[in-house]
Amino acid sequence: MQFAVIGNPITHSLSPLLHNSAFRTLGIKGYYGRYCLDNSENFSTLTSLKLKGANVTIPYKETAFSHCDEVFGIAKQIQAVNTLVFKENKLLGYNTDALGFYQCIEKFQFKNALILGAGGSAKAVACILKDKGITTTILNRSKERLESFIALGFQCSTYDNFFKQESYDIIINTTPSGLIQNSLPLEESKLKALLEDSKLAFDLIYGIQTPFLNLAKNLHIPTQDGKMMLINQAILAFEIFMDSLGITYHKNNLISSMQNAL
Ligand code: NDP
Repeated sequence: MQFAVIGNPITHSLSPLLHNSAFRTLGIKGYYGRYCLDNSENFSTLTSLKLKGANVTIPYKETAFSHCDEVFGIAKQIQAVNTLVFKENKLLGYNTDALGFYQCIEKFQFKNALILGAGGSAKAVACILKDKGITTTILNRSKERLESFIALGFQCSTYDNFFKQESYDIIINTTPSGLIQNSLPLEESKLKALLEDSKLAFDLIYGIQTPFLNLAKNLHIPTQDGKMMLINQAILAFEIFMDSLGITYHKNNLISSMQNAL
């Protein structure tokens, strides 16, 4: 049984490490690889790979959504999928990023949230927060990407027009700022004012201590990076793959194998 993560670039993806660790631990004969798709026009050629399932990453989550024969759950609102099942000549789509994120913060029972960034991952995070009854505001550098959030009923603002009028329980960085350049996602004074009144600073970036998380730490605000979100979305995707094939396994062993893989 072959599975893969599809994206471009794809060499950095940790998904093969997570899923192959689960296959080994659970004694399931499966292999999970990487596939670099050169452009979205070739998306339909993926069926020739004879995969049972796949994950999709930057920049193809929206393309994958539009190619699905059927889309399930919150992926319909997000209009992007990160998990695909190839079944009986049909392409089935799911989004496990959203619930993977929510599982990280569920225990805090936050009332409101502020998201920095308005890209694909911001949409997944915003939709699940809304679904769970958490009032969510989106703040983005440019205006264009906010349009689809406004259409979904979110309170939105560009950085230039933003003036803090209330406090937010959680501030979530969904921008790649801090990954590419060693910079903050938002002007330091504005960010400080937001963080000082918050209960958690969450960065979707994993594997590095970002300037955003450093600033929160200096202000003695609790922090969390994107590692658990990555693991959670992979566990949820693995469950979807195995369910579609009717394969049973011990869930606790799945969780520990993925947690120990990173
Ligand atoms: P997108 O490219 O779809 O969106 C990026 C967003 O960040 C845009 O709104 C963009 O604003 C903004 N942005 C980009 N650069 C800067 C900057 N220097 N300063 C301020 N804003 C900026 O990316 P994704 O949403 O797909 O991914 C974002 C991050 O989330 C990545 O770092 C990715 O690794 C991480 N991620 C982590 C996951 C996990 O499991 N932990 C899962 C998915 C993503 P503008 O519109 O103005 O260009």
